[in-house]
Amino acid sequence: MAGEPQAECLFCKIVTGEVPATVVRESDTTVAFRDINPQAPTHVLVIPKAHYPDAAAVAAADPGLTADVLREAGAVAEEEKLDAYRIVFNTGSGAGQTVFHAHAHVLGGRGLNWPPG
Ligand code: 5GP
Repeated sequence: MAGEPQAECLFCKIVTGEVPATVVRESDTTVAFRDINPQAPTHVLVIPKAHYPDAAAVAAADPGLTADVLREAGAVAEEEKLDAYRIVFNTGSGAGQTVFHAHAHVLGGRGLNWPPG
């Protein structure tokens, strides 16, 4: 069922604490933690606690939860004192998505080129 925890999902296991992570923020509905393979000085992932496969699925099922993720991404940027940053939702394996539990990448602390690779 949409939003239910998935037994084999890595990020669901981070939500429960079964898999450890460096958590920087937590709200009732979201967790923010440092990426294990950072691509910038600040690289934090913000996830909904509920399981959805990608950001579009979150938006379709629960627009308020989408707003929660974006608000937390902004709060991470503020805490990390980023004056410029990028929020990325890789969607689909062809776009680089490797974990199919929705997540926002918050990247900053260095110059970011456009277009991305
Ligand atoms: P995607 O490629 O799906 O957009 O992003 C998944 C991200 O999760 C990658 O940047 C990857 O480095 C990160 N990641 C994968 N496994 C783990 C883990 O066990 N812990 C943490 N903190 N990040 C992970």
